[in-house]
Amino acid sequence: MTVLKSPLIEPPEKPDSDESAPVMDTSKMSAGQRAALELTEAAREAAGERTFAAGLFMGEFNLAGIHPFPTQSADDRERGNAFLEKLEKLLREKVDPDEIDRTGEIPQPVIDELARLGAFGIKVPVEYGGLGLSQTNYCRAAMLLGSWCGNTTALISAHQSIGVPQPLILFGTKAQKKKYLPRVARGELSAFALTEVDVGSDPAAMATHAEPAPDGDFFILNGEKLWCTNGTRAGVIVVMARTPPKIINGKSKEQITAFIVETNWPGVEIIQRCRFMGLRALYNGVLRFTNVRVPRENVLLAEGKGLRVALTTLDTGRLTLPAACVGLSKRCLEISRDWANRREQWGAPIGKHAAIADKIARMSADSFAMESMTLLAASRVDRDKNADVRLEAALCKLWGTEAAWNIVNDTMQIRGGRGYETAASLKARGEAPIPVERFLRDSRINTIFEGSSEIMRLFIARELLDPHLKIAAPVLNSQLPWSQRLRAAVKAARFYLAWYPKQWLPVGPKSKVQSPKLEQHLRYAARTSRRLARAIFHAMLRHGPTLEREQLLLGRFVDIGADLFAMAATCLRAQSLSGGSRDEEMVHLVDFFCRTARLRIEDKFQRIGKNADRAGYKLAQEVLAENHRAMERQIV
Ligand SMILES: Cc1cc2nc3c(=O)[nH]c(=O)nc-3n(C[C@H](O)[C@H](O)[C@H](O)COP(=O)(O)OP(=O)(O)OC[C@H]3O[C@@H](n4cnc5c(N)ncnc54)[C@H](O)[C@@H]3O)c2cc1C
Repeated sequence: MTVLKSPLIEPPEKPDSDESAPVMDTSKMSAGQRAALELTEAAREAAGERTFAAGLFMGEFNLAGIHPFPTQSADDRERGNAFLEKLEKLLREKVDPDEIDRTGEIPQPVIDELARLGAFGIKVPVEYGGLGLSQTNYCRAAMLLGSWCGNTTALISAHQSIGVPQPLILFGTKAQKKKYLPRVARGELSAFALTEVDVGSDPAAMATHAEPAPDGDFFILNGEKLWCTNGTRAGVIVVMARTPPKIINGKSKEQITAFIVETNWPGVEIIQRCRFMGLRALYNGVLRFTNVRVPRENVLLAEGKGLRVALTTLDTGRLTLPAACVGLSKRCLEISRDWANRREQWGAPIGKHAAIADKIARMSADSFAMESMTLLAASRVDRDKNADVRLEAALCKLWGTEAAWNIVNDTMQIRGGRGYETAASLKARGEAPIPVERFLRDSRINTIFEGSSEIMRLFIARELLDPHLKIAAPVLNSQLPWSQRLRAAVKAARFYLAWYPKQWLPVGPKSKVQSPKLEQHLRYAARTSRRLARAIFHAMLRHGPTLEREQLLLGRFVDIGADLFAMAATCLRAQSLSGGSRDEEMVHLVDFFCRTARLRIEDKFQRIGKNADRAGYKLAQEVLAENHRAMERQIV
């Protein structure tokens, strides 16, 4: 992993050097906004080589590296299959998701069997007692789990996507790996504790703190963490805490550090087990730390690098959720297809009525797209352990969790009243206990945790603006000396004079996929990538430094980019799967997906210029100022 210092916010060491210039003007922000931005910017890794996903926003539709679609090698697949077969057998025979939902507990024998299979150390290297499987195989396991039991998925995913294994694999010292990886791979549960009562999406408000003890060998940790998944059963937790500020370039800088904390150490308490609408067997809790002595050797990466640990862990960790959503969506498709064939109303199976058929078509197309995007991102991790997948993972998380929510919602609609009825009640009446109600409850959280959809859009927007910020923002930054701004202006003018005309080129190179229909869609995607780049550039000219406040506008750019990414992934994957007797059907499915994606994209472009954003914002502020309290009358 290339850990580079972010040049965006840190004050320049040499005020006249363009390379070290801060490109974001924070001088007009509120103190809270500035603190949040400076902290996350400092933790943000500078982008390396431009990836396919990043290029989409700059008018580059460069398929090199993803075309042909990177399929799993036979060897890797074989290794994954050996584990997945055992996992599937265990899920079918020993894991009763409705009983787990009803009791709110995952039976200990199930956890023990999962541990025996190696399910808690899927990606942990073999030398540390894990299975050493690839990211793709890990995602395939998440798909299987997601199709069956949300609670078991969360247990395994919180443990190894965000809990101790992932940050330890990425950043652990040899000693830390040797000490902890075998334990967590064997099944000692782990967790990740960032959230606090005042720290949701904004870590700048963190109150948990750790001070070096006078003897220097320990930190003394104090504070309270909220909603820590696996926290009530974990043996070991990654805890984010504020450590004493450091003076950097003459300015005091806030520091957040990641610690590996063992829960049996004195001073660690579980205050409450939290309960939720769904995922009722989540071992999620409020944890309190009172004067906990954490050895210095349990610092992850380095003092002050906690947010970088958290953000980088989440970069890959975020792929688990869309993978689980793939499994869930496929299960929903199976349920919907079966019911739409069997249920007859108004003289025909409901699947023959256009309103239901439309839902089924979207469900199948979106499930394929979600799977293609996730496999594409996972394959990049497998090809290069240091690959920067933050953008791909965020696109998969945002697009996948939102699409899966629509799919579950549509499944409930297709199942009608039976969708809303609990599995136990269906069973008691002698009907098949199809748990759509549970799926809906369990999956609602997916667009909230591990980066809410709103935060994902901001995160992706930050990445899509990055190349422009580096080039153009110093020109507008009133914190910089005029000489530096002038030099930046000349540099920016030179870049944009060459770059902008290229964004008007009508055609690009052929991608050479077999199906003319898919080739057409890819050409549309290439053209639209340039149109998107132009629109982003025009928005920068129009809004200048205030563009970062235009969340709805930026959100539209992000959504267009996400759909372009999905189109590319589906077309190329369909091409890679071609050669069988089902080619025509595959093309039909992907063609339908691309048509719907194009309609969404065109709608988003239209709403860039024509929308009610300003009026909506004004109304919301009036509501917040209680000018419309009359609307809230006559309620209980
Ligand atoms: C079941 C469950 C399990 C969890 N597991 C863990 C865990 O294991 N470890 C852990 O550390 N945390 C965990 N969390 C916390 C979870 O990650 C947070 O709920 C999430 O980060 C959102 O924080 P919040 O709920 O405080 O919402 P807030 O940050 O208060 O946000 C409220 C709303 O405002 C939006 N919003 C916030 N800021 C902005 C902005 N700048 N612009 C636009 N919109 C904005 C959000 O998207 C959201 O819609 C868990 C939460 C739940 C419910």
